[in-house]
Amino acid sequence: MDLQGTVIRPPSEAGSILLQVSLGCTHNKCTFCGAYPDKSFTIKDRWTVSNDIRFAARNFRHIRKVFLCDGDALSLPQKLVESILMEIRETLPWVTRVASYGSANGLRRKSDAELRRLRELGLGMVYMGLESGDDVVLAAMNKGCDVASIVKQGKRIMGAGLKLNVTVINGLGGRKRSLTHARETARALNRLQPQQAAALSLMLIPGTPLAQAQKNGEFELPDPMEMVIELREMVAGLALERSLFLANHSSNHMPFRARMPRDRENVLRTLDSVLDGRIAP
Ligand code: SF4
Repeated sequence: MDLQGTVIRPPSEAGSILLQVSLGCTHNKCTFCGAYPDKSFTIKDRWTVSNDIRFAARNFRHIRKVFLCDGDALSLPQKLVESILMEIRETLPWVTRVASYGSANGLRRKSDAELRRLRELGLGMVYMGLESGDDVVLAAMNKGCDVASIVKQGKRIMGAGLKLNVTVINGLGGRKRSLTHARETARALNRLQPQQAAALSLMLIPGTPLAQAQKNGEFELPDPMEMVIELREMVAGLALERSLFLANHSSNHMPFRARMPRDRENVLRTLDSVLDGRIAP
């Protein structure tokens, strides 16, 4: 497979065929993000993508999921995404789900009919970064869109019959806005009601503007216990009606996987035990 540079994929796509259809992300300006330092957004040559699909047909007959890399594959022109999905369907007929990252700004340019068409052609899941439900945090992180636009595009994804997985980042408000970030993020998730939400813990990546801000004393990363307090505040504010809530990324201090609302009270009890010192994080 022609995988160029650092390839990022969600933890739950670990076993998927990684089909790189573009390089980098269209925004590439979030202050915390070190995902694509070496790439500017580029659409890959269609022949190379076809070649990779044929390679997958010869070598990955046992793998049923495909993930379109890199960071913003759905911002590619509609006809191009459609042709890639059609080729996956024809050449890898055993694949049951194709997934991709999607940004609010990229999705805004697609009509509802275009999103439904992608669903018909096999796209099944879109991963969106909400990061925070607090507009002050999103602006500070230079996210390039606000909470309302992310919620709106997330709802359009689900309205088109696609599954939505939303990522939020514990610690992104720093020490100062930790609890506000937690409460507002819970509120945004409640408005969205995604099928899945995943909470990561912020890790400062050397070379990023946010890591530099920490060096300058302008940003303070919450310590592990403060991260647990923040996560507890977020979970306490959740009113998810039917979602899988994952905090099992390697960055998390207290990993768990919860069916909401069923597991909410158990998760709160576990987090309280960590805060009481009865369970080590
Ligand atoms: S967080 Fe996402 S949108 Fe922001 S720069 Fe990184 S890949 Fe791009």
